[in-house]
Amino acid sequence: MEWSYLKTYYLDSQTVNPSSGYLRCPSCGFLTRNPEMGDPAVACPECSDHGKPRFHWPVLEAYTLFSMIREMMNRGEKRADTEVERVTSELANICRSSVQTETVESLLRQIHNMSCAEAEKDGKLAGLINSHLEVPSECFDDVLCGLIDTEAVTDEHKVVVVLTMSLTEVLLNDFLANVLVANRVNLPVARKCVRACETYTSKNALFKDIVGESIQRTIKGAVEASKSSKSFLDDLQCIRNRRNAFIHGDPDAISREHARRAFSVAVESFAVFADLFNRHCRLERETVPDVPRAS
Ligand SMILES: [Zn+2]
Repeated sequence: MEWSYLKTYYLDSQTVNPSSGYLRCPSCGFLTRNPEMGDPAVACPECSDHGKPRFHWPVLEAYTLFSMIREMMNRGEKRADTEVERVTSELANICRSSVQTETVESLLRQIHNMSCAEAEKDGKLAGLINSHLEVPSECFDDVLCGLIDTEAVTDEHKVVVVLTMSLTEVLLNDFLANVLVANRVNLPVARKCVRACETYTSKNALFKDIVGESIQRTIKGAVEASKSSKSFLDDLQCIRNRRNAFIHGDPDAISREHARRAFSVAVESFAVFADLFNRHCRLERETVPDVPRAS
């Protein structure tokens, strides 16, 4: 999803929450954002049942995680913007020429993405800096120090990536438990089964046994059906890799761009998983899917 759209609707506007408003029919499991379904007297369009309160979806943990992700993204973006503006004016002073914040942001992003080996290669870093800024040769070391000391990727950006993976795992675990419920396993046992599958590989094997295709393939279908951006799966894979590299000891594995891609995944994951629920978690008999959240 475009960053400008995400920023305007989901970051700056604190009132818009992509996890809000989903209601689930307790009889057939149909999930919708139609607010009319909030009235128990309105018949479910899928099974015509009425009279019982509808459940809220997603689970409370997902809602809470999204609020944390948004808060961290907000703080991270503000701190990074302030830092980019600070270094932009510092570089303008050093070079005694006008410098654009967009240029500095692009330069910082490319330096962050450059491996140590690349940066140490003769002339590579200098070439990159000189292609963006007009640096008098006697000032080059000062410019280099100014750029290297800039923290355009904040700790909050790294937390956004880690929390977004937690969010998708919470949604995935709840989805798998409800797939089992739809196959006549009671919810406490279903949750135990999912908890017992500690790795993504074992969860995928469980899902494949029941549904007949991989989680990845199923999510791909849901992405297309829910009109989410085509980059959802690539973004999800990318941030999963970055999160894993980060928690296994690479503190620079996550960039500001990765945090933005993670935020996009966090926003879109609700529509994607709602579609997954409607495809694979429909109930043939009355089953209590979850404890409704107090609203
Ligand atoms: Zn229904």
